[in-house]
Amino acid sequence: MLNVSLKELSSLLAEKKISSVELVQTFLQRIGELNPVLNAFVTLDTEKSLAQARAADALIAAGKATPLTGIPIAQKDIFCARGWRTTCGSKMLSNFVSPYDAHVIEQFNRAGAVNLGKTNMDEFAMGSSNETSFFGPVKNPWGTSTVPGGSSGGSATAVAARLAPAATGSDTGGSIRQPAALTGITGIKPTYGTVSRYGMIAFASSLDQGGPMAKSAEDCALLLNVMAGFDSRDSTSLARDKEDYARDLARPLQGLKIGLPREYFATGLSAGVARAVEAALAEYRRLGAETVEISLPNTRLSIPVYYVLAPAEASSNLARYDGVRYGYRAPQYGDLTDMYQKTRAQGFGPEVKRRIMIGTYVLSAGYYDAYYIKAQKLRRLIARDFAQAFRQCDVIMGPTSPTTAFKLGEKSDDPVSMYLSDIYTIAVNLAGLPGMSVPCGFGDDGLPVGLQIVGNYFAEARMLNAAHQYQLATDWHRRAPPGF
Ligand code: GLN
Repeated sequence: MLNVSLKELSSLLAEKKISSVELVQTFLQRIGELNPVLNAFVTLDTEKSLAQARAADALIAAGKATPLTGIPIAQKDIFCARGWRTTCGSKMLSNFVSPYDAHVIEQFNRAGAVNLGKTNMDEFAMGSSNETSFFGPVKNPWGTSTVPGGSSGGSATAVAARLAPAATGSDTGGSIRQPAALTGITGIKPTYGTVSRYGMIAFASSLDQGGPMAKSAEDCALLLNVMAGFDSRDSTSLARDKEDYARDLARPLQGLKIGLPREYFATGLSAGVARAVEAALAEYRRLGAETVEISLPNTRLSIPVYYVLAPAEASSNLARYDGVRYGYRAPQYGDLTDMYQKTRAQGFGPEVKRRIMIGTYVLSAGYYDAYYIKAQKLRRLIARDFAQAFRQCDVIMGPTSPTTAFKLGEKSDDPVSMYLSDIYTIAVNLAGLPGMSVPCGFGDDGLPVGLQIVGNYFAEARMLNAAHQYQLATDWHRRAPPGF
């Protein structure tokens, strides 16, 4: 039960071998046992989850099931869910019960899926280790002294430790792919605009994108089928025809052209990660794909560009947390300005404050041209690198993260070294492209390694195909952490 695919769960439900209520109870019990150690979930609501499960069982009995009906999904606590506490990992929202559903939550509800609980995350999705959460760090089940990655660390651990069959994440600079890599699961960040941002708490709006995290590419395809789709309430939502992301899964890989960016295999990449990625590429060649060297010359600019643009957008987005309408308010204050100041001083953690200060600085009158406008120009160059690369290949592959999971606390005092863990993922967000991470082996320390697959705009089905064919030939994605 814990290791089966979503498709298998769906057949078990359809054949009445198990009910959704039983399924949800099984996972809730596991969460009850293991969450005290892992800290993957921050909010559970047994009553609500079971009510949804009962409704799903009724749909199944009435023959009205769709592929995800009755399946429990862990929801990253960045997605507003009606009647659920929705915190975004922050003290600022630690008392906020959402009055409405995010588009993604609505889509899952419409599909008859069950909300299993809200998962822990870096505060406002700012981080790469889940250590900036107000609710404390999440542990990686592959080694509980190591981080699960971030910011979707709770979702990653929930899937890796089999506390949930699947989960949602969001990715602004790598937050689906990097934790997927560090916990040995599969995750996809779709093309910007594919999944509506309505009700997904904003960090950096031009980069934020929701996506699925699961045990396999096939599961991710089924989840994306539900999550994707036009939504007029998000002005950057793409008005495109609905597509079936599972349509190409069975396609053979003969003739697939894989671009290997020279810059992604250079200094800074750990030997164990390099070895696992090389072995994965050898497997792709065996499956009939061809590899070509490409260059993404502006890769080195992606971290500095991101750390101007993302904080700039964050400083604007987070201005709404003022203690007036909802969320945390300082208990004692003098006048209105003092209330704002104390609320924000107490409600935000240090990483969020750092980003707000950087963002405010780069947007200020004297520095706007020098930093913000400059970064926007460089963003264009980074996107152009990819456009050129995709003239030579169908997909790009390389490591997702330069290292395997690092130790809790190892990078907490060194923000720049933390920022560097997204060196291979961030450019993909800056360009708005789809990217995914697939487990491809283990490093010298025995911890999981992720292979990153980047596609051209709207190439999700092709990427999922490449990932699925690899998963048919290998079993890395089936490995569960020992003891879980
Ligand atoms: N780690 C990056 C950051 O801290 C990306 C986070 C994300 O994708 N949400 O901003």
